[in-house]
Amino acid sequence: LYLDVPMRAGVQHSLDRAQANYLLGVLRRAQGDRVLVFNGRDGEWVAEIRPTGRKAGDLVLREQARPQTQAGDLHYLFAPLKAARLDYVAQKAVEMGASLIQPVITRRTQGDRIKHERLAANAIEAAEQCGILTIPEIREAIPLPAALAALTPERLLVFCDEDAPIVDPVAALRHAAAEQGGNGGPPLAVVIGPEGGFTPEERALVLDRPNTVRLSLGPRILRADTAAVAVMALVQAVLGDGR
Ligand code: SAM
Repeated sequence: LYLDVPMRAGVQHSLDRAQANYLLGVLRRAQGDRVLVFNGRDGEWVAEIRPTGRKAGDLVLREQARPQTQAGDLHYLFAPLKAARLDYVAQKAVEMGASLIQPVITRRTQGDRIKHERLAANAIEAAEQCGILTIPEIREAIPLPAALAALTPERLLVFCDEDAPIVDPVAALRHAAAEQGGNGGPPLAVVIGPEGGFTPEERALVLDRPNTVRLSLGPRILRADTAAVAVMALVQAVLGDGR
């Protein structure tokens, strides 16, 4: 369970309505039962439940169960989608190892589709279900050129482009990562376009960035949410998760 409190033995946290409903109502936890909690910074902690009513209670932190782990290093840049699909991509990106989620505003999307809090809530839920102790950073939506400029030059950008020549994606990724050199491969980012695709100008802008590899995910045009999962699975399979 994610708790936004500093983790120290003896810290008491009063459950909010959703947490109380989940622990006491859904999971039927009772006085003295223990649950694992994390805040994204201080590792995983054992907490004891103290119900104070039928649908209310406290958690008292006892001891650390696991030290803090480090996240991988994969940035996920994507153009905002409709709300339900946005929930999906936020959850799947976390499950597939994204450490930073950057919504980008493109010609064929609008930034106002993004509800930052909702994106963050989805990321936390996904982290809880994955058993990871880090919460990916969720950035505010910014225009594509600014998002590209914010990437450090050594970060390899995997540009998912349905118009790219269809080549062996495993070989293309290995080649691009090897060119970059360094131990354990370069830090990575993936960028996926909106439902309507990138404009030719945007495509040129992305390709203009040094250290960008243009990748086809096959002959079929995938939905942006499918493309996101496909490319992250590919990146994990070829370059591993431990960057
Ligand atoms: N251009 C199309 C259109 O007019 O609707 C579709 C864009 S597609 C739905 C959204 C994004 O998913 C694309 O911008 C691209 O990043 C990614 N994508 C979809 N299919 C892909 C493929 N076969 N290879 C690489 N990327 C793909």
